Parts: sequence; C-alpha cells; structure tokens
Amino acid sequence: MQFLVPWQAIEWAAPLHRIAPRASYRSGMIMPVTCKVRLSEAGVHLFDRRSGLNVLLDEVDVPPQRYSLAPRYLSIALTNACELRCSYCYAPKSAAALDVGRVIAWSTELDGAGCLGIGFGGGEPTAHRQFVELCTSVARSTSMAVTFTTHGHRLTPGMVEALRGSVHFARLSVDGIGATYERLRHRPFDSVVLAANLLRSITPIGINVVVNGDTVGDLDDLAEFAVGVGASELLLLPEQPTKATSGISDADAQRLLAWLRDTRCPVRLAISRSGLESEVPVANAIPGELPLDAHMHVDATGVLRPHAYARAGTLIEGSILNAVQALRELV
Ligand code: SF4
Repeated sequence: MQFLVPWQAIEWAAPLHRIAPRASYRSGMIMPVTCKVRLSEAGVHLFDRRSGLNVLLDEVDVPPQRYSLAPRYLSIALTNACELRCSYCYAPKSAAALDVGRVIAWSTELDGAGCLGIGFGGGEPTAHRQFVELCTSVARSTSMAVTFTTHGHRLTPGMVEALRGSVHFARLSVDGIGATYERLRHRPFDSVVLAANLLRSITPIGINVVVNGDTVGDLDDLAEFAVGVGASELLLLPEQPTKATSGISDADAQRLLAWLRDTRCPVRLAISRSGLESEVPVANAIPGELPLDAHMHVDATGVLRPHAYARAGTLIEGSILNAVQALRELV
C-alpha cells in the first residue's frame, strides 16, 4: 500500500487534524481515506476511525513544540454502577456517574489536541442513563474513534440500532464459556452470544476475557467463540488483585503463557499491561511512546489517572488538558 500525502495539509502550525490521503492498492484501485493526524516524537500518526487504519510516518521528525498534548487514547468510567457481581471486579463500589456535558466538553478538548480515541467503560457504561446520547454526540462532534466495553446484558436491538454509525469498536466481556461463564456472571451464556451478534451487526468487536484459574482452561474455546461471532480481537486481561481477590496465581499465569506459546488462534491476540506482557512477544506499534502519552483514564468521580488501577490521580476541574499536564508532572 502506498500513501500519497498532501504534505501542505499538515503544516505544523495548522490546527487541522484531518487530512485526506489516497490509498493506492496494487490492483490500481484508489480509495479516499480521511485521516486524523497526531504528532509525536515517534512521527506523524494517521488514523482513520471508520476502517481502524493506522499509519505511522516514523521517518518524519516532528519538532517537540508540535507534539500533540492529549494522550493517544482516553478511557472513561462513565459510572460505577453494574448489576453483575463478579468476584474479581475492580470497579469501585461507591455510587458515582459522570455528567454528560462534562464528558462532551473533555472530548472536544482532547480531539483538538490530537487524541485518537475515547473508550467508555465502568462499571457498566450502558447503565449510564445518557449512554446512547453521549456516544452519538461525541462521534458527531469529534473525529475520534468512539469505543466501549460492556457485559452486554443491557443491550437491546433498539439501543444497538441507535448506536449505529456512532461506535467504531465495541468490546464484549466474556469470562469463560458456557457453564464457566454462567457460574462467574450468574447470567445465561446464550444472552452473551445474543449480545455479540447484536454488537457485530453495527461495528467491529473484540472479546475481553479476565484470565484466572476459572477461565484459563477455556482459552481455546474462547478463541473459537471469538472466531464464531466474527470478533477481530481477543483481549486477555490477567486478573488484577483487588481488595477482594489476590489476582491471577503464578501457576495460572504460567498456564496462560504456555497457551500463548502454543496457540494457533486465528484472531488477533492482545494482552493488558499486567507485567505478564513482558514475557510474551508483543508488537510495539509506537516505539518509545511514554505510557502517559499512550493512555490515561478518567474514573467515575472525574479523577484523571494513569490507568484504571492507579492510586495517584488529579481531579479534573474545568479543562481536561490542564489535568493532563498536572498528571504528567505528578507521576
Ligand atoms: S461485569 Fe464488569 S463491572 Fe460488572 S461486576 Fe463484573 S467485572 Fe465488575
């Protein structure tokens, strides 16, 4: 693939974050692609939220004063509410939910500062009263990808239809298959199959799995499930310690690593930053990218943190970019 980039369109001084390169395939077909631009030490990052295409022009030296100020990706816990009671849940149990107007204002600010995607989670994000309105508003008013992670049990055909065109990727949490799932989540497995098919009808999806002693033996079946529902990614989340649980055991972590060495899983695999990722060959898409340039997290009380498990954070009062700067100085 060759990109024909109108360089004048990304004049460093321009506040423009969209350009329109054309992709020329060997077949000779020319496709128009609208890309958002992010500038960093790694180069010029082009991103198309509709296709999920990422191109890093790492041969371009970007002057430091032009680096995008926002993190590349921001996750937001819209609410702590969730009707499930998974024993390994890390979401705080205090009631909290974010105001939609604040989230939209933050999104606009981040969009203008080079953020490429925003991901809603919780708790359960679909439990937020204005979840659909929020997704449609952010998708309409920004050029960022809108994604969310859900347990799927609140989805209805009407809600999913209302989200069509406003969500660019959805992650469905599926901890175990069949009886394992039902034991951990106290919901029928058939319901999560239905949820996968509903989501897949409007957007590409990924399957998230918390890996622990209950689910590590189901990884082959989960990979098969992911293929069956047309998922494009299987994200492995080694269980993290919480007040209630000790996290994945060393023995189960070794089982996970052994599975990763042997699997021929046809779906793309991803793994969360949990310490284990250093023991598997992980593709580093943006070499040298600092953690706080890659990702930050906002919890349901409006505190910006380096990630969802981090203790340190800074309350967002007004501008989220001010909080981004304060967090970089704090950590
Ligand atoms: S579905 Fe997620 S948020 Fe809800 S209880 Fe389970 S782990 Fe926690």
